[in-house]
Amino acid sequence: MYLTKSFIPILKNNPSEAKIKSHQLMLRVGMIKQSSAGIYSWLPLGFKVMKKIEQIVREEQNKIGVQEILMPTIQSSEIWKESGRYDDYGEEMLRIKDRQDREMLYGPTNEELVTDIFRASVKSYKSLPQLLYHIQWKFRDEVRPRFGIMRCREFYMKDAYSFDVSDEEAFFSYNKFFLSYLRTFKRLDLTAIPMAADTGPIGGNLSHEFIILADTGESKIFTDKEIFKVSSDNTKVEKKSLEDLRKKYEKFYAVTDEKFDKKEFENKVIEENRLITKGIEVGHIFYFGDKYSKPMGASVDLPGGRKDFVKMGSYGVGVSRLVGAIIEAKYDDKNEVMKWPISVAPYDVSIIPMINKNDNTALEKANNINDELIKNNIETIIDDTDENFSSKIKKMNLIGAPFQIIIGKQTQDDLVEFKETGQESKKLKLEEVIKIIKEEKVKN
Ligand code: ATP
Ligand code: MG
Repeated sequence: MYLTKSFIPILKNNPSEAKIKSHQLMLRVGMIKQSSAGIYSWLPLGFKVMKKIEQIVREEQNKIGVQEILMPTIQSSEIWKESGRYDDYGEEMLRIKDRQDREMLYGPTNEELVTDIFRASVKSYKSLPQLLYHIQWKFRDEVRPRFGIMRCREFYMKDAYSFDVSDEEAFFSYNKFFLSYLRTFKRLDLTAIPMAADTGPIGGNLSHEFIILADTGESKIFTDKEIFKVSSDNTKVEKKSLEDLRKKYEKFYAVTDEKFDKKEFENKVIEENRLITKGIEVGHIFYFGDKYSKPMGASVDLPGGRKDFVKMGSYGVGVSRLVGAIIEAKYDDKNEVMKWPISVAPYDVSIIPMINKNDNTALEKANNINDELIKNNIETIIDDTDENFSSKIKKMNLIGAPFQIIIGKQTQDDLVEFKETGQESKKLKLEEVIKIIKEEKVKN
């Protein structure tokens, strides 16, 4: 892709309305454009990143055996009246009337709708567990939308739902998601800590929020630093192994402020390991038993002829929020250098030819290198403008492809100047460059 033909509307300076660095960068390089308060269009650069995040989230759901469906954004109020949440949900719910005067709503979450789908066809314990997810836009009329896509009104979420025959089986499902989330965030090159959390309007009694540390986060967290050493490597998707994983994490104090207890914190955590800081919630999992299945009559036949309401959990990941969360974690705003993890980078490499008027040598070289890279499934962007070197580097540092190739007039035929974005460059053969990039890509 040539920069001159791309739809990447870059701004010279930071937009003054943006208070945190992810919002600044996203507006600066034109990843998003606000259409009204808390509602955004996603432009090519932002959309590419979000779609890559979505795909990783999807793959990790599929790996633990969750099946993908797609539910609509618009729901009928009927099912929400059945569960009793139509009134409880309050002003965050966007309520709509259709031409027949029927009460509809734009879904803020999908417990009711998925329970309705489940109860229509699953009748026996033999079909359990059922694990379903979808990735769909949600709308919550937040009181104070802010920080760009971090807390907006329309956002993209992966939400999954589990249906089980007993508490024991439901905890097994819960723990599968626990592992799946750790694996997902790791592939995004993020360290997310699972923290005991309040269940809020979703209800229930067991819940973890997955939080990544960031000064600009909205969640206050209290944790034992030792929790960062826990690893989910080698965990199998099997009851005992998953229980052990949860225990390994739960050994350490890690809570958000709703669950904070000063005495408990000081008793459980030695002084030098106490960490009080802020973080961004990127995922949230809940177990809530029969909170929805009971009022909505979602039951199955048990062995011996008895019937019981299914035990449910729900599991959310903020797919669009993750775009911002990755920027908060990776963007060096002092030096204005963004380096996307290669797993979600909009481009793998920026090619930066130093173009002089009346001399196309560097651009021709860039085109040839580009052809080679594309043959190797490497995604590229070429800065084909005739701006000076420092302004080209500046722009490419903001776009944030993790690697850069610089082509000067003197670049010898078989050597190119190659660097990791933000680091020193070295001269390498193109084959070596391709090898390095490919190796980075397969790691993810
Ligand atoms: P929060 O505490 O941040 O309001 P929540 O607990 O209401 O979030 P959930 O219902 O658990 O959120 O939603 C699952 C995920 O969706 C959250 O972990 C978060 O990543 C994302 N999310 C929730 N609300 C928003 C929002 N207004 N804008 C962007 N992402 C959001
Ligand atoms: Mg939450």
